[in-house]
Amino acid sequence: MISPGTINNKQILITAGPTWEAIDPVRGITNHSSGKMGYAIAEQAFRMGADVKLVSGPVCLPPPVGVETIQVLSAQDMYNAVHRQLDAHNIDVFIGVAAVADYRPVSVHAQKIKKASAKLTLELIKNPDIITSVAQLKAERPYTVAFAAETENLEANAHKKRVNKKLDMVIANDVSKLGTGFGTDRNQVLMITDTDTIDTGIQDKTALAETILKHIAKHL
Ligand code: C5P
Repeated sequence: MISPGTINNKQILITAGPTWEAIDPVRGITNHSSGKMGYAIAEQAFRMGADVKLVSGPVCLPPPVGVETIQVLSAQDMYNAVHRQLDAHNIDVFIGVAAVADYRPVSVHAQKIKKASAKLTLELIKNPDIITSVAQLKAERPYTVAFAAETENLEANAHKKRVNKKLDMVIANDVSKLGTGFGTDRNQVLMITDTDTIDTGIQDKTALAETILKHIAKHL
């Protein structure tokens, strides 16, 4: 029996970290993400009594205590791992914290590309949008929360993202501000649903993880 207004006993699936889109065996395309925010949310959700699964791109962090952590490299790997978890479990809440690469090279070179010519053109193809695929599920759709990193018009852009991707909540993060966001231990976000927008103020990532999870719980 799941009690409302709490994440105790809820099944939570989280993505975190960047993805790595290989160009050749030694080079790739990636995004800026330390994984700290996603890992902090996973760890805190476990402390608050949730059953937590974490699908993580390559980061330099130990797996959070008590959390089943699945390591992946590419966006396609992350998509597959997320859907395997959704098929295998009754996930109540999905939180997309990962900085997924929007594009990947059309083909991966089997050998290291030699720097022979002055110019090199890479052809890229769009990756699947993992969170949109989750939000579009017809059966057993989890409460779906996305992180949105923005550098301008934070609230308006995040609001648009929530509507376009059919999300329940967007956690909007102004990554142009110094000292918060990428790679740091503190962050400040706006938590946006269809009914309210709440500014958390600057908090360390553990405290912020708790604030976010308590806010999600109120909407379940
Ligand atoms: O559109 P944008 O990348 O800004 O959206 C950010 C949100 O979408 C994050 O929650 C991120 O994890 C998710 N996302 C995803 N799959 C993608 C791109 C972004 O799940 N291919």
